[in-house]
Amino acid sequence: MAVSPGVLRSKFAGSLLGTAIGDSLGAGAWLRIPGRELAPHYTDDTHMAISVAKSLVEKKGLDLEHLFLTFVRDWEAEPWRGYGPGPPAIFRAFRRGEDPRRVAEQLYPGGSFGNGAAMRVAPLACFYHDDLEELRRAVEGASRLTHTHPLGIEGALLQAYAVAMAVSSTGPLNGLAFVEELLSLAESQVYRRKLTTIIGFLSRPRRPSRREVVRELGNGVEAFNSVPTAIYAFTATSSFEEAVRMAVSFGGDMDTIGAMAGAIAGAFYGREAIPARWLGELENRDYIERLAVRLWEVKMGLG
Ligand SMILES: [Mg+2]
Repeated sequence: MAVSPGVLRSKFAGSLLGTAIGDSLGAGAWLRIPGRELAPHYTDDTHMAISVAKSLVEKKGLDLEHLFLTFVRDWEAEPWRGYGPGPPAIFRAFRRGEDPRRVAEQLYPGGSFGNGAAMRVAPLACFYHDDLEELRRAVEGASRLTHTHPLGIEGALLQAYAVAMAVSSTGPLNGLAFVEELLSLAESQVYRRKLTTIIGFLSRPRRPSRREVVRELGNGVEAFNSVPTAIYAFTATSSFEEAVRMAVSFGGDMDTIGAMAGAIAGAFYGREAIPARWLGELENRDYIERLAVRLWEVKMGLG
């Protein structure tokens, strides 16, 4: 069943706001500021997702050169948002006149397989949610700007498929069927093994302990140690709030795992399912929501 335009708008807003709230909740768990759960500022995950959305809106679709320039300019404007070492090294090399693609390839042996391509993918997944083949091409191109290792790209792809499936979903969540569909799209052994582990977790009468989830799925900065963990947090829960709370509870790279679970859960449950108190604490909430609605308008051919 096709998703109605109004519901689609809510899902776009939910996914982008969900990214920002999961990110800020994870960052807030580090900071522990009395009286608030969200960090006062979101981090690189949201900042780069905003860059992706801005570029998609401006160019009415994916333009890799424009997207890369948007990344560079946004990082230059706010370099204090907790960026990992990789992207800034690529951006600086570009400003020195070097070929950024070569820098991205040589940054780590075989390229980066960090979760940096996955964490920012929600706007692409919303925009191309109705065509998984188009989405695959878009995500591969956008990932390679900074993350060229196949496992970094596949992590971004699985996160994008999860968000796209959540956008396309109507009706109640069937976590098991959701992960089985993702498994049918996974290629590398490590992702297939972890998605199979999630299916095992979801099939048990009692849920695994946090420690077991972290041991089997991971909570690190590598895409394969965080994307499956975010997918688990979404599929093992039944609300936006439960999903992001669980994602952050695994520790480790909490802002990114929170951002990814928030992107999927926000796309599934929609903007109205996000607790008002979190929206009230979120930095630049109105701007992020307007941007998501602009993305929806472009998608709908409204401007
Ligand atoms: Mg971050």
